[in-house]
Amino acid sequence: MSKYDFDLFVIGAGSGGVRAARIAAEHGARVGICEQSRVGGTCVIRGCVPKKLLSYASHFGEEFEDAAGYGWQVGEVRFDWPTLIAAKDREIDRLNGIYLQLLSNSGVELIEGHGRLAGSHEIHVGERTVTAEKILIAVGGRPWIPEFEGSEYVITSDDAFHLEQLPARVVVVGGGYIACEFAGIFNGLGSEVHQVYRGDRVLRGFDDDVRSFLGREMAGKGVQFHFERNVTTVRSMAGSYAVELDGGEVIEADCVMYATGRVPASAGLGLLDAGVEVRASGSVPVDEYSRTNIPHIFAVGDITNRINLTPVAIMEGHAFADTEFGAQPRSVDHAFVPSAVFSHPQVGTVGYSEEEARHHYGELDIYRSEFRPMKHTLSGREEKMLIKLVVDRADGCVVGLHVCGLDAPEIVQGFAVAIKSGLTKAQFDATIGIHPTAAEELVTMRNPIQG
Ligand code: NDP
Repeated sequence: MSKYDFDLFVIGAGSGGVRAARIAAEHGARVGICEQSRVGGTCVIRGCVPKKLLSYASHFGEEFEDAAGYGWQVGEVRFDWPTLIAAKDREIDRLNGIYLQLLSNSGVELIEGHGRLAGSHEIHVGERTVTAEKILIAVGGRPWIPEFEGSEYVITSDDAFHLEQLPARVVVVGGGYIACEFAGIFNGLGSEVHQVYRGDRVLRGFDDDVRSFLGREMAGKGVQFHFERNVTTVRSMAGSYAVELDGGEVIEADCVMYATGRVPASAGLGLLDAGVEVRASGSVPVDEYSRTNIPHIFAVGDITNRINLTPVAIMEGHAFADTEFGAQPRSVDHAFVPSAVFSHPQVGTVGYSEEEARHHYGELDIYRSEFRPMKHTLSGREEKMLIKLVVDRADGCVVGLHVCGLDAPEIVQGFAVAIKSGLTKAQFDATIGIHPTAAEELVTMRNPIQG
């Protein structure tokens, strides 16, 4: 019998921590886990899941309009934000219940409260102190906003899910995942949206064609962009806010939402006292088996700042548990991880952007197609779709695949298997398309646009 209370203690019951705890318990380990907020973590409670529900809600506005082109007469439509938020909250409660059930069914002991390392193998959770042979840090991250005059008036995505009313005028600051997604959500639900971004095109790091295309399409749907601008001050004015930009322009808004990145939630965990190395940014360096510099302390998910996506954290947590408790050592391959932005329109991407691929490979062949999806022939909507393949000319492998438009994330999830498997453009060409779909374009593009 071990001299510790647990074989494994996990700090943080989000996607990565819960997966690691459950799998370790299924391998026979005695596992404890603590959580200071709600079990489920960022993704389930205040991230991917509620965001996607809001995104679905905001697409209906266009669907009602599009239906007319197909012969439907839609009567007067009205949107009620409190109804949506209440429904979303019920779904989050249901998922939270499922996560709790998963933990208890696996025999994992949940301790509610903030966990803090208190020695090499000791963890304080509230009033309680437990000991564990191995410890996993899976506390995730939290929104970060820069300091400026009036920063106390702004909200982050955490707060956006609990607004009492839909703001009539919103300023969204940032050009990344969260900013683009929420600009689309608010715009689709009928708010006037201003998106302020310090760069010249949204989604830095994505393929340049995708960035330009998405910006154009979002603007076409009504988002008012203020590129190459920073907010200097936000002033409160009797129920609304005056947002001043460095160009001198002032935007009046009912809500100012910052989506300027997330930082690892490593403060207050006692990491340094326990000798765990922490970078200046707050992230915890780990090796390919998620080990920190202390051999029995591990970390997975956003706290490690590898690729900050839920499915990556889940895979890291699972691989850790298999390695340490299942006698199946395995590491996670972080190459060719697909991702999506649930903006309006949506983006799905896997592999290298054209710009990155030029650094990694020699000559490239680029296939690119921009077209009006069939749905919009009758709907009359001026919305296009972009599809792009980046091919390494030396061996013909498709090393980048990018889609912007209807169902892009659903399309890219399937194609990601092909890209991850190293399939060539010739193998794409040998695959017969499904007609009529937008995705068939990915196997029917024959002529590269440039070499
Ligand atoms: P991102 O890192 O994607 O974007 C942050 C944005 O804020 C960038 O446009 C950045 O500009 C800008 N910014 C940063 N600092 C400042 C500043 N001081 N002043 C003005 N602008 C600033 O972060 P998000 O908050 O959007 O998302 C965090 C992470 O969460 C993502 O990286 C992603 O990993 C994950 N996520 C994934 C989602 C998905 O898979 N669909 C959805 C939501 C989040 P610049 O580009 O110039 O640096």
